Amino acid sequence: MAVDRHVPPSVLKLQPYQAGKTVEQIGREIGVEVTVKLSSNENPLGSSPAALRALAAPQDYAPHLYPDAAAVALRAAIAKKLNLEPEQVICGNGSNDILEMAATLTLRPGSKAVYAQHSFVVYRLATFARGAEAIEVPAANFGHDLDAMAEACQQDGVRIVYVANPNNPTGSWHEPEAVAAFVAKIPEDVLVVLDEAYHEYVEDGPGPTLALLAKHPNLLISRTFSKIHGLAGLRIGYGLAQPGLLALLNRVRQPFNANSAAQAAAAAALADDDFIARSKDANRAGMTQLQEGLAAKGYPTIPSCGNFICFASGDGAAMFMTLLRGGVVIRNIDEYGLANWLRATVGTEENNAQLLAALPART
Ligand SMILES: *Cc1c(COP(=O)(O)O)cnc(C)c1O
Repeated sequence: MAVDRHVPPSVLKLQPYQAGKTVEQIGREIGVEVTVKLSSNENPLGSSPAALRALAAPQDYAPHLYPDAAAVALRAAIAKKLNLEPEQVICGNGSNDILEMAATLTLRPGSKAVYAQHSFVVYRLATFARGAEAIEVPAANFGHDLDAMAEACQQDGVRIVYVANPNNPTGSWHEPEAVAAFVAKIPEDVLVVLDEAYHEYVEDGPGPTLALLAKHPNLLISRTFSKIHGLAGLRIGYGLAQPGLLALLNRVRQPFNANSAAQAAAAAALADDDFIARSKDANRAGMTQLQEGLAAKGYPTIPSCGNFICFASGDGAAMFMTLLRGGVVIRNIDEYGLANWLRATVGTEENNAQLLAALPART
């Protein structure tokens, strides 16, 4: 194989994205039946029932036809719900697709991306895949150091900055006022990507980040149907920005990137207020259960505004295996520079109890 001779060094040194392993995979590997999977921040209540009803009516979305390439109906529904114009919405094959489009638009060899230590690994993957350089800004108390990140954005060659709010895997969150002050400091030719995959879980609400769109032509907010709406398997997310920026993103978007079943299900999920409220309530209760249970066993935790929580596990790889033997899979986060921590998704009351039961008291 000689093709690698012409692959950029930044790509060769990349580690492929490590997805939370499937329950079946892990069980097979160690000969244990894994009954609890709290590794990928999926919704423990399943999918929005309204979305499932939409999926069960294929005559309405016609799988034999190409999807609506412009996702007109879904974009209109998102715009209506958020009080924006459809021209301010772009859909993606998961919000991951939005993060990738942003990188395609701005990054190439010689240019730089800014993101925080311990932030979502896709920012690194998207950066190195373009042969670009990364400025990874040290975290402050497991959160983003927004002042230092704004400072880093003043450097020559910076084209994009990614901010996850809340952040995965740490669950840290910054007040809308802090985000607004941050965006105001970024040079106008640097694309600001505000990743709000978990915004629905934030207790006080995401706050007025949408209002920032009118002020900042360089701001892109990404959101997803994978988390609170429970549609991770369908791959559908969206971006919000001024029409001018989206006109650029649309030039690098794959045709038909949002499939027809996903478009139909997402539109239904968006209107399923009951499921969103139930999911949020369940997360609040489960988060309290895990926080209290982990504290009772002597494990320090990082306060989280998402649907997951990190705890100080000691050797994360060893503890991961201990839990696995107990039939519980959570997330090893050494690739995030957190080798002595593990991340658990907030599950059902029963699953959370199973996790806590499988966890030895901290010595
Ligand atoms: C889960 C997650 C996403 C969403 O990914 P999808 O591609 O929409 O499934 C985006 N950003 C962060 C920080 C996440 O944790």
